[in-house]
Amino acid sequence: MKTTYPALDVSVTLNDGRRMPQLGLGVYQSEPGPAARQAVKWALEAGYRHIDTAKRYDNESDVGEALRESGLPRESVFVTTKLWNDDQGYEPALKAFEASRKRLGLEYVDLYLLHWPVPGKRLDSWSALRTLQREGRVRSIGVSNFLERHLSELIEDSGVVPAVNQVEFSPFLHQKGLLEFCRSRGIVLESYGPLTQGLRLSHPAVADTAARLGRTPAQVMLRWAVQHGIVVIPKSVRRERIEENSRLFDFSIPPADMRRLDGLDEGLHTEWDPKDVP
Ligand code: NAD
Repeated sequence: MKTTYPALDVSVTLNDGRRMPQLGLGVYQSEPGPAARQAVKWALEAGYRHIDTAKRYDNESDVGEALRESGLPRESVFVTTKLWNDDQGYEPALKAFEASRKRLGLEYVDLYLLHWPVPGKRLDSWSALRTLQREGRVRSIGVSNFLERHLSELIEDSGVVPAVNQVEFSPFLHQKGLLEFCRSRGIVLESYGPLTQGLRLSHPAVADTAARLGRTPAQVMLRWAVQHGIVVIPKSVRRERIEENSRLFDFSIPPADMRRLDGLDEGLHTEWDPKDVP
């Protein structure tokens, strides 16, 4: 199947041969209903061709609706959703997927992720994702919030390497070891919280770089991740910010500034931290 992403056509290739746009719109905490729908529509108008939702966000049906209203061909937009923790296990996962797919109103989902490495259940859930992929209901399968040890266990048990690991990643949570591990196994790292939910946008190192490059702090944070080969899914429901966050592919951060940003790690988690998950 030929897939094209007309406006923001920068993509990465997954280990299953499919392509994934390097920029997507995140919709966590985008209020279900008109606000979430409008954000997705603005993003699609701005050229985004990738939307990241989850059962947990309660706005899958808004994403599906906005997609249909945009009139864009289904195959031109990459849609991710996730299996919530309460639904983990083989049979519950199959059921939960079907419910997500119906809410989205889509025939297939581009990427389905285990939202969290739920102990005692994640291997059975993964097996369900493989079934869904074999049946063509999901194109690519992956995980989220997995650390090296969770990934190793999954790969060893199933012999199948996830296409994607979606984790929190920013200059302030620079998980270098995890990035290298993913790279060495052919797993694409996808960053959530790429803007630290706004917490570090005024950090002097970010602000200085932005001022020197004539860009905004948000663009610098996102471009930093893009230059590391990472997929980014910044969230906003404001049109001007959605557009601002998409202008990442017409400039680059010079090596010295990249090194400076590389050194800002402070282990900042804005959401949850899987470090204690056995
Ligand atoms: P984010 O880092 O994308 O921050 C979003 C916030 O940053 C916005 O609410 C707004 O306050 C601010 N912002 C956005 N654009 C801005 C701009 N141009 N200028 C100034 N401020 C701006 O954080 P996030 O929403 O937590 O993460 C992005 C996406 O990642 C989510 O929407 C969701 O799709 C996904 N996510 C996944 C998980 C997971 O466990 N897998 C967890 C959290 C988020």
